[in-house]
Amino acid sequence: MKAVERAHSALLEKRNHVNKQFTNFVIPSLDLILTEKCTLKCADCSNLMPYFKRPVDSDLNQMLMNLNLILDNIDLLTELRILGGEPFIFRKINEILKFASSQKKIPNIVVYTNGTIVPRPETIENLVNDKIILEITNYGKLSRNFDKLIQTCKENNINYLIRELPETWDDSANIIEPKRSLKEDIAIFEECCAKYLFTLMHGKLYRCPFSASLDAIKKVNLLPNNSITIDNTLTKEKLQKYIYGKNFIDSCRYCLGRSKLLSRVRPARQSKVIREPFKVMQNADLK
Ligand code: SF4
Ligand code: SF4
Repeated sequence: MKAVERAHSALLEKRNHVNKQFTNFVIPSLDLILTEKCTLKCADCSNLMPYFKRPVDSDLNQMLMNLNLILDNIDLLTELRILGGEPFIFRKINEILKFASSQKKIPNIVVYTNGTIVPRPETIENLVNDKIILEITNYGKLSRNFDKLIQTCKENNINYLIRELPETWDDSANIIEPKRSLKEDIAIFEECCAKYLFTLMHGKLYRCPFSASLDAIKKVNLLPNNSITIDNTLTKEKLQKYIYGKNFIDSCRYCLGRSKLLSRVRPARQSKVIREPFKVMQNADLK
């Protein structure tokens, strides 16, 4: 199967995962956050990048150790999603690509980029792999190296897929004050389509990128149910309990969820300011 087809079937498998009981322990996808840094400042970034005042890179050794521990306790990770921020900002991305592509338990790797950076020659070499697909979002003029990147992919036989911006985006980057009732929080989690976007960031596993970044921003104290720390105490049972968890996590109380009920905004609006929790974006804050 070609990499593009595999990426699509992985997506389908992820959707089926909600109700499907696997014989083996399969994690359908894992988002690996390489860096909090991005070349764009999308006000409505669902990974909450505009909230980071002093964004940092993730620690390479910690990521490799965490991935090893997770892989030791599962049978398959259907898709590893490598992202940031902008993952090509992370200077040690080659080590991640080499590690991931050599793992039998990881058949598909997707690297998400915003078309602003053409990777360095060594990274290009590592991207040429049948397991890897580069998903390039076209942000129009903001993707200043889009054409060069496509050309590089073509010249080097890198599997790539272009994602055009939709007409609108989910209004999903608001960190709200936790004022809802328990019943409402349960409903938000139930309806949320992001709750299976398991995310590895700074040594912890989360249900979704929102909960990972909310923790990393360090503006609110989150309850222990929000994540699990990936260390030598990790067991298959502990991992399964979290992955198959049916209850909402503490971050959901600060989130509007990801469902059809969410309002929509103009895509890729660029922010002039560092966003603050509990504050609604004003027109004056946008470029
Ligand atoms: S949505 Fe925008 S700010 Fe967020 S990671 Fe993507 S390019 Fe960066
Ligand atoms: S509702 Fe909960 S699971 Fe869904 S995106 Fe928000 S924090 Fe994540």
